Formats: sequence, C-alpha cells, structure tokens
Amino acid sequence: MNVSSRNSTQLFFKAFSNKKKMVVICDCGKQAIIKTSLTNKNPGRRFYYCPACGFIGWADPPMCCQAVDVIPGLLRARNDLEEDLEEQLMLMRKKDEQLKSSTNFLF
Ligand SMILES: [Zn+2]
Repeated sequence: MNVSSRNSTQLFFKAFSNKKKMVVICDCGKQAIIKTSLTNKNPGRRFYYCPACGFIGWADPPMCCQAVDVIPGLLRARNDLEEDLEEQLMLMRKKDEQLKSSTNFLF
C-alpha cells in the first residue's frame, strides 16, 4: 500500500491479520478496537480507538455529503421501526398470555 496516500492518523496504527480477524496495533503497542461513529457529521463511519492511550484514527474514508444527509434519517427511521416492532411484540405476548389463561379456564 502507498503510505503517502493514507491519512495521517492511520499512520499511527499497524494492521495485522491473523487467521480469524484483522488486528490493529496502536503506536503505543496495545491493540486498538474498532468502533462506529454515531455523530451526525460521521454517521456509521468506523474508527480505531486505543483503550490504552486514547488515540483515535479513522478506519473508513471521509463520508460524502450525500451520505451525511441521508444516513441519520435512515437510522432514525430504523429506530422508529424497531420501537414499533417491540411494541407489537409486547402486545402479542400479552394477548398470547390472555389466550392461554382463557383456554386453561375452558379445560
Ligand atoms: Zn495506544
């Protein structure tokens, strides 16, 4: 890989791949973890975080402005749907319990 084309924060991390997954080692020698940004400016953009020294570097390239406009709305819509689904599941469980107790009464 051409090092000069990478952004400067990524230079502090070294990536190794073992049999199962990619391991990213911080410049301080500790293993960095990958996290996902939830900010409106970088929704869904992944970054490396070193729990030992607190260093942060982007794993994904910068977001295009269209993605920054669209992704927060999609995430909100998904969260709304998940809440609706949870509500429907609770109602179904409640009705299921009512049905079970009423059939117990019949037998
Ligand atoms: Zn570190």
